[in-house]
Amino acid sequence: MVVRMIRNKLRLIRYYSADRPRSVWGRATNIAFAAALALTAPAVWLVDRAYVLRVSQLHISGRLNESADGTVWGGVVPDVGLRSPVGDDSVMSGMFQLAIGTEHHGWPFESSRRHPRAQLGLDLFARGEPQADVDLPAGSPLRAAIELALLEAGHDEAVALWQGELPAVSHRLSAWLANGVVWYLLLSYTAWLGISFSRFTSRVVQVGRHARQQQRHREGRCVACGYDLRASEFSERCPECGTLAE
Ligand SMILES: [Zn+2]
Repeated sequence: MVVRMIRNKLRLIRYYSADRPRSVWGRATNIAFAAALALTAPAVWLVDRAYVLRVSQLHISGRLNESADGTVWGGVVPDVGLRSPVGDDSVMSGMFQLAIGTEHHGWPFESSRRHPRAQLGLDLFARGEPQADVDLPAGSPLRAAIELALLEAGHDEAVALWQGELPAVSHRLSAWLANGVVWYLLLSYTAWLGISFSRFTSRVVQVGRHARQQQRHREGRCVACGYDLRASEFSERCPECGTLAE
């Protein structure tokens, strides 16, 4: 008894879920969702390239001291005097500022970080005007002094970025995946909206056409072109367009 009920239910389920010729709209919906899926990866990639979620800037400032024998020492500003072994005979000879920009890319989640080149600003008192973007040669005493000061203050990542040792772009896989889900939902929702709108519009057009045809039929005119058929009642076809007259 119960077995037979279940068997009947299963038969019904099989019947209603069987493949049968789908409507044009069903096919259009399938194509639209497939297109949304195919467009998801390019969309996420494009947004990661083009969309800057926000830009952050890290500025590290420090001072430079020079002792009587010409040795240069640096210290990051809050730590000056605590760790830098500046001798009693040294005098402050300048300031430095390292600017590290970070571009956070992607939407809605940050899928990558990009670092433009770090910029070093120098204000050496002996040289007059401060310089905004200085390229110190590797191995120069000034560069070594600034690097040491940054490392002592714990800015290892800043030093690595300044020296170009870290890749300029870093990706976050989990954000890439999450963005993929969001973009797939957005694209398929848009596709669904488009299909629904077209379906609604075509239904309105159909209803309008049907009403017009009925009106023409009542008035004794050709349903296709509106030609007056009352004078040609013995002809089977409309003399204007050839449509079979009913
Ligand atoms: Zn006609």
